Amino acid sequence: QLENVGFIGLGNMGSHMARNLIMAGYKVTVHDINESSMKKFSDDGITTKQSPLEVSESSDVVITMLPSSSHVLEVYNGTNGLLGGGSRLGPWLYIDSSTVDPQTSRKISTDISRCHLKENKGYAKTPMILDAPVSGGVPAAEAGKLTFMVGGLEEAYLAAKPILLSMGKRVIYCGGAGNGSAAKICNNMAMAISMLGVSEAFALGQNLGIKASTLTDIFNCSSARCWSSDTYNPVPGVMEGVPSSRKYDGGFTSKLMAKDLDLAMASASGVGFKCPMGSEALEIYRKLCRDGCEPKDFSCAFRHYYAGKDE
Ligand code: NAD
Repeated sequence: QLENVGFIGLGNMGSHMARNLIMAGYKVTVHDINESSMKKFSDDGITTKQSPLEVSESSDVVITMLPSSSHVLEVYNGTNGLLGGGSRLGPWLYIDSSTVDPQTSRKISTDISRCHLKENKGYAKTPMILDAPVSGGVPAAEAGKLTFMVGGLEEAYLAAKPILLSMGKRVIYCGGAGNGSAAKICNNMAMAISMLGVSEAFALGQNLGIKASTLTDIFNCSSARCWSSDTYNPVPGVMEGVPSSRKYDGGFTSKLMAKDLDLAMASASGVGFKCPMGSEALEIYRKLCRDGCEPKDFSCAFRHYYAGKDE
């Protein structure tokens, strides 16, 4: 029933997600402030629109995949934004897959609950929204293998599941509005801390005379085993096909990691909770960015801080 899908934010992730929706048979309409990103779609015969409001007018469901909270608030509440049309025909369901703080997701959910739709193909008169951030990065977006962490009403989650499964392989319901965003930033904070912990331990091992490849074998069958040791090892030459084996190019940039840690720390302070390790990780990633590593994969912390730049 939800066949007309609007997609806003055709960047590194969104462009692949929108194409997977098209391949799955949805009628997709797209928008981005970047004209050249839109042109790649219009050249392929995909309908493009000049504003979020125009997208909303032709969609049953609208998905947003934007850089950060301020962009999401602008697209929903700004001039010609998604919610700018007042009482009208419009999407019954909004899905925000951007990585934002849970407070932003909950604010938009409240804003949407105040909107009223005219009779819309038999759907409810109040639209719903899900926060559905993703894990998996650009390769998983391209391959349609993202993991979605979903917050919002269960009714909306069940309606959205087939759409999300056309862009991903796992869809996990996390509870009410904002819980998907909370899950995402907790996951990334743990990932940053474990990457830094593993990097520090490998560097200590090297300084004590143990080769990183030997230490990796030991970690991976011992209690230090984790994603940063067995799947995304930060030491050059230990694993093939990971950013550390190609000068930390590609992958998940230090800039995005700093952004996600910033969100985690802001959310923690919003609820009066202290995260000493998360806060230290944020300082390290901020410094990495100041030192020129913004575009490098976040595992470059190993080389930059622990093992020396010429390693
Ligand atoms: P990106 O910067 O490549 O793409 C964002 C797109 O949004 C751009 O095309 C930009 O022009 C567009 N945009 C910005 N403001 C807009 C507006 N007001 N109206 C319409 N379009 C607008 O970012 P990305 O790498 O695709 O990431 C998108 C989101 O996914 C971010 O929140 C990011 O944290 C998250 N994420 C990224 C990755 C990754 O590996 N890149 C992994 C998981 C999650």
